[in-house]
Amino acid sequence: MELPAGTAFGLDNLPYGVFSPGDGPRRVGVAVGDRVLDVGAVASAAAAPFASLLSGPVLNPLLAAGRARWAQVRATIRDWLTEASSADRVRPHLYPLADVTLHLPIEVGDYVDFYSNEFHATNAGHIFRPDVADALPPNWKHLPIGYHGRSSSVVVSGTPIVRPVGQRRGKETPGFGPSKRLDVETEVGFVVGVGSEMGTRIGVADFADHVFGVFLLNDWSARDIQAWETAPLGPFLGKSFATSISPWIVPLDALQDARVAPPARDPEPLPYLRDVDHWGLDLDLELSINGHTVSRPHFSTMYWTPAQQLAHMTVNGAPTRTGDVYGSGTVSGPVKGERGCLLELSWGGTEPFALPDGGTRTFLEDGDEVAITATAPGPGGARIGFGEVYGKVVPSIVD
Ligand code: CA
Repeated sequence: MELPAGTAFGLDNLPYGVFSPGDGPRRVGVAVGDRVLDVGAVASAAAAPFASLLSGPVLNPLLAAGRARWAQVRATIRDWLTEASSADRVRPHLYPLADVTLHLPIEVGDYVDFYSNEFHATNAGHIFRPDVADALPPNWKHLPIGYHGRSSSVVVSGTPIVRPVGQRRGKETPGFGPSKRLDVETEVGFVVGVGSEMGTRIGVADFADHVFGVFLLNDWSARDIQAWETAPLGPFLGKSFATSISPWIVPLDALQDARVAPPARDPEPLPYLRDVDHWGLDLDLELSINGHTVSRPHFSTMYWTPAQQLAHMTVNGAPTRTGDVYGSGTVSGPVKGERGCLLELSWGGTEPFALPDGGTRTFLEDGDEVAITATAPGPGGARIGFGEVYGKVVPSIVD
């Protein structure tokens, strides 16, 4: 089929999502060019042996089917889109992307968020703990720090984000009300396809047998609530009100050309965290506010890879399940134009930054629209696109 020149959804990408045309039921789709293919409908019409995995309304049955099935389904869909003999079968099931509604593509199991970018962790350390000489906590280079978040508030791109209400630090008594320091975190998310039994662990080498794909994630954060509540047990209500994810899950198979060596680690991690092969990923991210790009972080700077994060998450024998999601942690960089959150861009609110429309920001205002996009290298110089994760801030329900 004909694809728009330079499309981010080319035949080497083929990300999965869940869509509905009009009021119809939710279907499993694959983005190709400026259209989405109802792959469940084509699989049924073709009596494909995996048709039941694509019958919707979420991707979880496909995710649970395992790596060999993932490869078979992907290869078959590519054949449908490229072989002239399949054109008549495919054509009735293509919809313009602009005409469909995209839904949360997975039933999310557990949700974990990491803190694995050294630039972000160093900046956040300086901002939150200015009196402490070492910006990084003493454990940071020995393990990927993370916390368990709230899976029920993981929402698809486009879902309005209600400004959270909560406590913040006060002079004598705590303040209370709508957050005054609402922030974004530019992150990359990973979804577990094949889980693991309680009492077992997933080694770094087994990452690609368990993780199905990659997407974009915005870990909305209320910094004033977070700063007051975090010690000693970590983030809680300052994070749990909403986490947005992009609607398209890019299979790991589409990212083989994006794999790079992670940064050198010093000290060398414990054996269970040592790299077996390269799972650094060369994703170029972009964060925009109200249509203005404010940052371009590079995912290749991540100190801990998603393979190490999964190995750490299960080293104690905790089980994983199909649909479990984990976030990378805010992606940041060594210069201001690569900082992945407003906490860093405004240095804790002390340095307002300008937008091209004449406005300035420290943290988000009601009505602000936030988008994160990304691309990665694909075969033959093509780019693999992730689409976007978008959200608009709406006022608090109560104040
Ligand atoms: Ca985060």
